Amino acid sequence: MRGITKSASDGGRTGWEDVGGLMDIRNAIQEMVELPSKFPSIFAQAPLRLRSNVLLYGPPGCGKTHIVGAAAAACSLRFISVKGPELLNKYIGASEQAVRDVFSKAAAAAPCLLFFDEFDSIAPKRGHDNTGVTDRVVNQLLTELDGVEVLTGVFVFAATSRPDLLDAALLRPGRLDRLLFCDFPSWRERVDILTVLSRKLPLASDVDLDAVASLTEGFSGADLQALLSDAQLASVHELLESDTSNDHHQPREIPVISNELLKSVAS
Ligand code: ATP
Repeated sequence: MRGITKSASDGGRTGWEDVGGLMDIRNAIQEMVELPSKFPSIFAQAPLRLRSNVLLYGPPGCGKTHIVGAAAAACSLRFISVKGPELLNKYIGASEQAVRDVFSKAAAAAPCLLFFDEFDSIAPKRGHDNTGVTDRVVNQLLTELDGVEVLTGVFVFAATSRPDLLDAALLRPGRLDRLLFCDFPSWRERVDILTVLSRKLPLASDVDLDAVASLTEGFSGADLQALLSDAQLASVHELLESDTSNDHHQPREIPVISNELLKSVAS
């Protein structure tokens, strides 16, 4: 399965401190994944099957992928991430086998978080694909999800911005039965996200992130990330324009993002 999977130990790991807002989702994941991972012997004695498989859904850029990576790192789980379209494209004619392989790999890697991103591409409603490929993939996913119960320490997460396209059988109890909605961030959450994302940026002391959050209603986390990135680029341009030394390879100052600049990029 080389090429479509990765491990959270590959570096660049994010943790809870890199996630702004999304507190309800974070709490739900902590309850479902973090506690059983930290105290497996206590949870092993629980007589009822605990829900361990999650579908995150919501508009693009609202942190679904981001929070799953953070969860894997925070819970010290190996992380196997599979992009739906990649699985279909790379293994034309062998997609069901690819699904089997991914689950076997996850079982061998337990404790592990297996994540299917862009899940609607591999799990659409059956009966609409003339080639039958995705129908067979969905059947295989159902089989594997039914088997995951016995694989202690494998948590299956999937994400989609189009939950309406998914085959309903995948969402039945025992399968991806915990649904978590990642919505556009509220004002408070935008302040949190801006704070998290700007942690390593050279912000001027007058920067007012509360005010920037007020100007960015309807922005997703990805939009806020793009905003900061644009502001950073604008600050570089500002510095280059004001630097009259003609030695741009050795600027005398670092580009600082001012409040004025951030607000002008946001509005
Ligand atoms: P898609 O449906 O398009 O896959 P998504 O909901 O999975 O989108 P992400 O890929 O998680 O969105 O978010 C894109 C980027 O936006 C992240 O890499 C991160 O930089 C930033 N981001 C989004 N939400 C948050 C958040 N709550 N906290 C911090 N950063 C965030």
